[in-house]
Amino acid sequence: MATSDELLGTFVPVVVYWLYSGFYVLLDSTSVFDDYRLHPKKDEDVKNLASKATVVKGVLVQQVLQIAVSLLLFSVAGSSSSSTETTTETSLLTLARQFLVAMIVLDTWQYFLHRYMHINKFLYRHLHSKHHRLVVPYAYGALYNHPLEGLLMDTIGGALSFLLSGMSPRASIFFFSFATIKTVDDHCGLWLPGNILHFLFDNNSAYHDVHHQLYGNKYNFSQPFFVAWDKILGTHMPYSLEKRKEGGLEARPIKD
Ligand SMILES: [Zn+2]
Ligand SMILES: [Zn+2]
Repeated sequence: MATSDELLGTFVPVVVYWLYSGFYVLLDSTSVFDDYRLHPKKDEDVKNLASKATVVKGVLVQQVLQIAVSLLLFSVAGSSSSSTETTTETSLLTLARQFLVAMIVLDTWQYFLHRYMHINKFLYRHLHSKHHRLVVPYAYGALYNHPLEGLLMDTIGGALSFLLSGMSPRASIFFFSFATIKTVDDHCGLWLPGNILHFLFDNNSAYHDVHHQLYGNKYNFSQPFFVAWDKILGTHMPYSLEKRKEGGLEARPIKD
């Protein structure tokens, strides 16, 4: 059986996903932030190949499936890690190290799988193209994926980062919530001044927006944290943020 921390690690990120997306829906409902949009609002309906209702349904299906698989994995693995957790206090330094390792593991897993899903025509057509139906990304579309892709990328990637980092189930509640916030933010479609995630990570909403465009489809595969793999393997597309004539911003690739 899963422990209460394992249960929280499974359910809290789902709640965080909808809360954080909901925050962006609220921002989106006003025109106050139009100057910071990466695409004109109307383009969501013009350019995207999936309706909002389809996206919500798709994300929910995927989350239900991921919850089921996570609980199954926990029940198979048993509560092996829960016995040590109560006796040892994890120091902040250890926690930071575990988070860093988990971030690197998740990034590495997702980079190569993501890139392969673009190279392999069968996988792109049948799995990953679903995520790319959103040419104009928005927050709650972040996990709009084929369920099998969600399982491979997020569930297995998450399990690997959890196991290899050695973090406790309690720490994983925070790590997976953070990873969820990061992924939602990368799809928010806004470049808001003062967004701390944009300061901390070169991989952010503008960077990932480039990947969602046709010209960026073979670049900027890195997700969700660092841009290292793109830089090392030559798939990094630099861009500049320019003002659009019709208002708002655009992440425009820099050509030399
Ligand atoms: Zn992609
Ligand atoms: Zn995306």
